[in-house]
Amino acid sequence: MTNTSFSGETIVALATPAGSGAIAVIRLSGPDAISIVNTVFKGKDLSVQASHTIHFGTIRDGNAIIDEVLVSLFIAPRSYTKENVVEISTHGSPYIIESLIRLLIRQGARAARPGEFTLRAFLNGGMDLSQAEAVADLIASNSKAAHDIAMQQMRGGFSNELRQLREHLIHFASLIELELDFSEEDVEFANRDQLRTLILRINHTVKHLIQSFEQGNALKNGVPVVIAGKPNVGKSTLLNALLNEERAIVSEIAGTTRDTIEDEISINGIVFRFIDTAGIRNTEDIIEAKGVERTLEKMKQASLIIYLFDPDQTMEDIDLQLNGASDLHIPIIGVMNKSDLIVPGKQVELSGQELEFISAKDKEGIERLKETILSKVNLHGISTDSVLVSNIRHVEALQRTQEALDKVVYGIDHPVSSDFLAMDIKQALHYLGEITGTVTTDDLLDNIFSKFCIGK
Ligand code: GDP
Repeated sequence: MTNTSFSGETIVALATPAGSGAIAVIRLSGPDAISIVNTVFKGKDLSVQASHTIHFGTIRDGNAIIDEVLVSLFIAPRSYTKENVVEISTHGSPYIIESLIRLLIRQGARAARPGEFTLRAFLNGGMDLSQAEAVADLIASNSKAAHDIAMQQMRGGFSNELRQLREHLIHFASLIELELDFSEEDVEFANRDQLRTLILRINHTVKHLIQSFEQGNALKNGVPVVIAGKPNVGKSTLLNALLNEERAIVSEIAGTTRDTIEDEISINGIVFRFIDTAGIRNTEDIIEAKGVERTLEKMKQASLIIYLFDPDQTMEDIDLQLNGASDLHIPIIGVMNKSDLIVPGKQVELSGQELEFISAKDKEGIERLKETILSKVNLHGISTDSVLVSNIRHVEALQRTQEALDKVVYGIDHPVSSDFLAMDIKQALHYLGEITGTVTTDDLLDNIFSKFCIGK
């Protein structure tokens, strides 16, 4: 796929899911979209109709009527792809869909490749690259949080800000280029103080965006939560209570949850990926020792640890374990399970540790625990307005931008020749441009759009 290989071609694909449905939408985009449909549509002459109008008629293959349809017209450049776009709403029968697409291909359209409609929208200036990527995220979003981030990014998100900063930087780059032309004369067109201020400003924004990735990624892909605790403390039971179904195996025998199971629940629109793990204890048992190792590994990957205890454990023991886990610098919720077993009147000493009391078996305190989970990860306050980076490609480009910008600052503060300065600025411009797609390669575009579905 190259940027120009399809110019002039009209593409066609099913835009709705495959299979039977009430209706199906077949979409065409390209210069001949309207004339191709016109050859098989019996109703009005589509070539003389206004943009953004809908027309009823039949689609015929020779004398055979394939279907009664509604045809929507979007005349370039007022369409998703900025080309002529026609959407044909048919009855949702796989036979009709296939016959119609074959017919349109016979009339001169070509089957669209994955993401090709959105690729055209990008190449024709309808959206920048980060917005195009957000379209895929939006389609894939399965929680409110993931939806919010994708929607925000699709509507411009951080790309407008980056584009502005990049333009300022281009201005300086050209001044420094000019200095290179006059290198004999030792002139300085680019004011170094102003350049330094600008770089620091860009770096500030870039840093902020990089930092937002952890949150953005968690919201998009789910917040990983580890449930830790000794065998038989009720980890599987708690997971089940949280999931509200019997996913993990609950057993009376200590150490039966040997492997890790992952499951997801949505609390207030945020997806939490619960990782149920083998109990942590010193053991000779080889299989379980592996489980323990994995637990510690998993704990490091988590954004939150729920540390489970039961009334059999002493407060010293609980203290020791909570303090040990706190070395990981991950938010921890200490939870006392089996509260139903606490004998009334028996004093439970809390040595400074805040513990939540629950009974996983009786589903007591689960709602309160969910609230604590939300408050600990501090994500529920995220609004659609906050700019979050959730795409690994973007964060990598931002990190490279930052490295290049640091070099520019170094270059300003030290006796470095203008050509080096110019080179580092160009690097920063390159990486910034990669995010919005000002700078692209065919490989990069292929990589991004091949992950789209056909018809988008
Ligand atoms: P794990 O090894 O930590 O995953 O523990 P399990 O979830 O398999 O639970 C071990 C045992 O404790 C099972 O018999 C559960 O029924 C029991 N259990 C779990 N939660 C509670 C609770 O809140 N109260 C009581 N009384 N028993 C519980």
